[in-house]
Amino acid sequence: MGPFEYFEPETVEITLSLLRKYSDTAKVCAGGTDLVVRMRKRALNPQFLICIAGIRELDYLGFEDERGLRIGCLTTIRTIERSPELKERYPMLSEVATRFGSIAIRNVATIGGNLCNALPSADMAPMLIALSAKAKLVSIDGERIVPLQDFFTGPGKTVLRADELLVEVQVPTPPPHTSGVYQKYTTRGGEELAVVGVAAVVTRGSRNESCTDVRIVLGTVVPAPMRAEKAEAILKGKIVDDEIVEKASDIAADESRPRDSIRGSADYRREMVRVLTRDALRQAFERTQSAR
Ligand SMILES: Cc1cc2nc3c(=O)[nH]c(=O)nc-3n(C[C@H](O)[C@H](O)[C@H](O)COP(=O)(O)OP(=O)(O)OC[C@H]3O[C@@H](n4cnc5c(N)ncnc54)[C@H](O)[C@@H]3O)c2cc1C
Repeated sequence: MGPFEYFEPETVEITLSLLRKYSDTAKVCAGGTDLVVRMRKRALNPQFLICIAGIRELDYLGFEDERGLRIGCLTTIRTIERSPELKERYPMLSEVATRFGSIAIRNVATIGGNLCNALPSADMAPMLIALSAKAKLVSIDGERIVPLQDFFTGPGKTVLRADELLVEVQVPTPPPHTSGVYQKYTTRGGEELAVVGVAAVVTRGSRNESCTDVRIVLGTVVPAPMRAEKAEAILKGKIVDDEIVEKASDIAADESRPRDSIRGSADYRREMVRVLTRDALRQAFERTQSAR
């Protein structure tokens, strides 16, 4: 690891001043589970390291009917997994957290770090995009709210400026009869990064079996998480049965653009998109039967 100057600001304001001052030469550190690994490998050599882990005002999770869910950037994946409020209101998010790394990693890894690191295999993004979540970004000049769907621009790349901090993730209240499922495929099971990740969030009409809304988001197989919009379009307004789910899954696989990688060939990963999309849609729709 190269030499760097280390800061532990106690407030967001001080952090933002440091970011403005040092800009591209600085890096924010939250849990450090991505950043420190990259610094050890010398893939990243910031001159200034700004550790925000002690800013308690950024560690919160709260729900209000009108505003929906607010998650502070320092909230750990373990908190998301264990929160009784999330288990009740956003069980699909708690479920994603259970599939994320080991308990030791989940205890330290933050939601902000997972999103800002922007690996295509990052687990939180697909479900959050499927739930229409937004990111609150702040700098000395003020704040802006960016839909997560527009936040990622490529592997390791986002719209976040060097002087900005992602402070909060905002998730609207899902409509009644909505359920979501995240399907993650890893080659060695458990605590590994996804080879393919698919999130599906489905809303069912109150009196019938038709699908009033659906969002399918593919992770890992594309440079940045993407909606499978053509697959979504054929499901909307339709009575959902096995045939239409198979058709939507085929279309999602066609929409994905996997490359050959050490995690699997492009053809294999495309096939996995098909299988995981099918399973996610079936399970999500099944769960809408019991969703509030
Ligand atoms: C063994 C192991 C297993 C893992 N398993 C998984 C897994 O199953 N699924 C998965 O998705 N990930 C996994 N990861 C990756 C990693 O743990 C997550 O991406 C984690 O959420 C990163 O959060 P962090 O707080 O540690 O981020 P950090 O390492 O502190 O930061 C990551 C990046 O985000 C930036 N950053 C952090 N917070 C902010 C903020 N608030 N505003 C602006 N920029 C910010 C940092 O500057 C840095 O560039 C694993 C990592 C390891 C080492």
